[in-house]
Amino acid sequence: MALTLAVRPYRRRFVTPLHTAHGRWVWRQGLLLRLQDAQGRVGYGEVAPIPWFGSETLAAALAFLTAQGGAWGMAPVPDHLPATQFGLAGALADLAGAEDGGERERPAIADLCGLLPAGSAALAMAAQRWAEGHRTRKGKIGVLPLEQEIGWLEQLVAELPEGLRLRLDANGGLDLAQAERWLRVCDRINSLAPGRIEHLEQPLPADALEPMIKLSQRYQTPLALDESVATVGQLEHCWAQGWRGVLVVKPAIAGAPQRLEAFCQAHRPRLVFSSVFETPVGRGLALALAARCGPDPAPALGFGTQGSFADHWDTLTPAALWQML
Ligand code: MG
Repeated sequence: MALTLAVRPYRRRFVTPLHTAHGRWVWRQGLLLRLQDAQGRVGYGEVAPIPWFGSETLAAALAFLTAQGGAWGMAPVPDHLPATQFGLAGALADLAGAEDGGERERPAIADLCGLLPAGSAALAMAAQRWAEGHRTRKGKIGVLPLEQEIGWLEQLVAELPEGLRLRLDANGGLDLAQAERWLRVCDRINSLAPGRIEHLEQPLPADALEPMIKLSQRYQTPLALDESVATVGQLEHCWAQGWRGVLVVKPAIAGAPQRLEAFCQAHRPRLVFSSVFETPVGRGLALALAARCGPDPAPALGFGTQGSFADHWDTLTPAALWQML
């Protein structure tokens, strides 16, 4: 039986615009979904696409949802709409009460990966923010000249409190020689303080899978894929090609949650779950999925994104947020 489907677009402004490979990201736009059954029970879901990361555009998601004519008969959503797959599956799970019995558990700050600004700014802010309780921090590399960034890392490592781990994310911006230079530095740091560099994320472009597999076999520091594995289909492909390193998963754009769960159960991959700056609606559903799929003990979640927006939405329930839009 078809469920009533309603869609509301949203738009949120970043406190500080993010620098992405595709320019400044000022507004986060997406859709909230509400499914309602004949008894009047409702479930909320979210479509939070990032087209430059391999998902559909907001316009494509909206066109598909509008074409449903206000009802959804639970027909399969095509694979070229992964964020829409997540949104409808999430709303359905929420409606079925499968996710929880109401209030969602919030992860402790120590379980979230905090962000570092690039280069010397990280050194300046480091001391105060170490006190915030994150056990893992992530910094972007491949932004400034290589030797300058390596100098920054060496200095940062010397000042870090014991036990704090770093993730370095190149967003696919290095060439092979630069990636090897970074990996030699990371291996040296880790030989003195094991596990200090938790992983180096996406050193080479998304399609350079084979050279990244070779790098992962030649160096001790773990490598993680992120841009290479935006969707579950890409996760499955990289696994089939022989990748056994870390995989970053952004549930909100990965596609159908059932397929992601099946992949996890079949292969027990080393997953790190990450946000796409979704609202509390998508965040709750993504964290619930991470709890079902993730290894135990789990590496820090890439959901240290609260406070990124100039609004109070993170304090609202799904129903309150829906009413406000
Ligand atoms: Mg990344």
